[in-house]
Amino acid sequence: MERYFWHISGPQGDGLACVVCGASFLDTRVTSVQVGRNPADESPVFACKKPCAVVLAEDAERMARQMRTAAGLDDADVPDGDDDPVFCVDGHFGSLLRDLRTLAGTEALLTTSDDVTTIRFLLSLTARHAETAMMRARLVLARTKAPDTKDGDA
Ligand SMILES: [Zn+2]
Repeated sequence: MERYFWHISGPQGDGLACVVCGASFLDTRVTSVQVGRNPADESPVFACKKPCAVVLAEDAERMARQMRTAAGLDDADVPDGDDDPVFCVDGHFGSLLRDLRTLAGTEALLTTSDDVTTIRFLLSLTARHAETAMMRARLVLARTKAPDTKDGDA
C-alpha cells in the first residue's frame, strides 16, 4: 500500500488509530486494515475495515477515474510487466510509456487542483510512477545496446 497519509500524528501515525475517524484500535474492537504509510518513517498506517477503508478506496477510485479521464488514458495503469520482450506493448518499454503518460496526466491535474487531499494523492502517484519509470528506463537501457557498440548477441 503506497498511499501516504500526511496529516497524521500520535496514535494515527503509529498505526494505533484509524487515520480516517481516529478510533483507537486499542480501545475499540474493530477490524483494521493497512491503508497506506506514514511519510515520516514509512511505517504502515491503518483504518477501520468498515466503513473507513471503504471510503478511502472509493475516494481513490474516484480520483483515479478523474485522472484517467483528464489524461485521456483508456486503461488502468497498473503494469506488472516482467514479461520479456523489451519493446512490445506489454514489455518494459510499453510500461514505461504508460508511466510517462500517467505522469503527464498527473501534471495536468496538479496544475488545476487546489484541494489538498487531491494534490497529496496526485503527488503520491507521481512519486510511484516516477520511480517505476526510472527503473523501467534503466531496465530498457540495460537490455539494449548503444548503436555504436559491437553487438555480439542482438
Ligand atoms: Zn475509522
